[in-house]
Amino acid sequence: MSEKLNQLKEILGEVADLQHAGALLEWDQQTYMPPGGSEARGHQLGTLGKLAQLKSTSDEVGRLIEDVTAELGGARSLETSDSDDAALVRVAARDYDKARRVPAEFVVEKARVTTNAFNAWGEARGKSDFSIFRPHLEKVIDLMRKYITFFPPAEHPYDTLLDDYEPGMTTGEVQAIFNPLRQDQVKLLKAIASSKQVDSSPLYGRYNEKKMEQFCRGVATKFGYEWANGRMDRVLHPFETTFSIKDVRITSRFVKTNPTMMLFSTMHETGHALYEMGVKPDYERTPLMHGASSGIHESQSRLWENLVGRSLPFWEYFYPHFKKLFPAQLDGVGLKKFYKAINKVEPSFIRIIADEATYNMHIMLRLELEIGMVEGSLRIQDLPEMWNAKMREYLGITPENDAMGVLQDVHWSLGLMGYFPTYALGNLISAQLWERLNADLPGLSDEITRGRFDSLLGWLRANLHMYGRKYDPQELVRRITGSKINAEAYVRYLTNKYSEVYGL
Ligand code: ZN
Repeated sequence: MSEKLNQLKEILGEVADLQHAGALLEWDQQTYMPPGGSEARGHQLGTLGKLAQLKSTSDEVGRLIEDVTAELGGARSLETSDSDDAALVRVAARDYDKARRVPAEFVVEKARVTTNAFNAWGEARGKSDFSIFRPHLEKVIDLMRKYITFFPPAEHPYDTLLDDYEPGMTTGEVQAIFNPLRQDQVKLLKAIASSKQVDSSPLYGRYNEKKMEQFCRGVATKFGYEWANGRMDRVLHPFETTFSIKDVRITSRFVKTNPTMMLFSTMHETGHALYEMGVKPDYERTPLMHGASSGIHESQSRLWENLVGRSLPFWEYFYPHFKKLFPAQLDGVGLKKFYKAINKVEPSFIRIIADEATYNMHIMLRLELEIGMVEGSLRIQDLPEMWNAKMREYLGITPENDAMGVLQDVHWSLGLMGYFPTYALGNLISAQLWERLNADLPGLSDEITRGRFDSLLGWLRANLHMYGRKYDPQELVRRITGSKINAEAYVRYLTNKYSEVYGL
């Protein structure tokens, strides 16, 4: 390996160390830190973030990237080469370019504006009063527009925001995928609404928390989660976080009024974790660690949570075990009844509890509003009204108040714009992968019925996980499935599943 490449890797390794140390402090903040630690933690995270930023945007890194690019045959051959070194420099150059374009004062200003916006959002949501959040959201939108000006003009201003989460994808591409999907999903929802409804009451009994956690841990173990390289702790809002390919942690939450939520959210976070654990060990401490994009990451969590965890084969194996833990709660509830209950479709106000048939509608609504705000075609003062109008149009329901509507998500207060579409893209990609998987592994369904997941995980590792950030999302999906990201497989999946559950 060249001396220059070594030097570059060494610096980027130190950047990764600083970032992962920050992630560890954030994990601690959500799990075990006493409330009194919060002010000091803010300083510590700020300092680590600043050091990582200084190190990663230094002139030295820029020179090394240039030199190594030349050594590897220039920018063009970097694009076409399939080697890991070329990928590393390609990804490092992109990260560097993005970070260098954004002035340090902007980063400071954004931190200040979003901290205030986050606090205002919390208060606004508590009082269900959008007017408290409105001036802060206006400032966040101004910041987003300013951010866009640091980058070369794109086809659509929203492209710049989207690219931070889904590298290489454009607003036009996403709209071209979502528009026909919306019509298909609305049609399916109408058919479901006019058929005999499913009874999900057995899911809302009094379930013992300890036993539920025990079951969750058992499922994660069966999926292939490595406890020697991870752990699970309790938080208010579950997430997965990575400090090393050999230290990938998940979190969970037990909610008395919705006890099975813990189970599906554990499967979801386990899906994220399996991806991170499966990245090629050589990528440790390099920019190629972690996932290809937010959408690809979400395809992994959704695959384990929904395509596996809400499937009949999965429960054919697990239901007897589950019922043994909760005999009173599931008395008289057979497998089929339970399977239908966990797949009940019901339009709801809240995105995070939405079922598979309605989830994407929540995302499309948010995407349209975000685009409107960024373009300036939507006035912030009109946002609650627009939100409610779209809820009526897509799901046929109207939120009672802003807390149940426009104020439910934290994302906008944090300046996370361009992120929402990746949730829906994740759903679509998970179904594309699932079709390919079942074609490659014809015995998969039988294996799942026997509680075996090794060939599923092995396939995901070999075809997707190991590559980390090496390929852009579109390229990765094309390499695996032969097509670009599209909604066809997902619509087939939903239609088949709900035809069975609802007898359509
Ligand atoms: Zn997720």
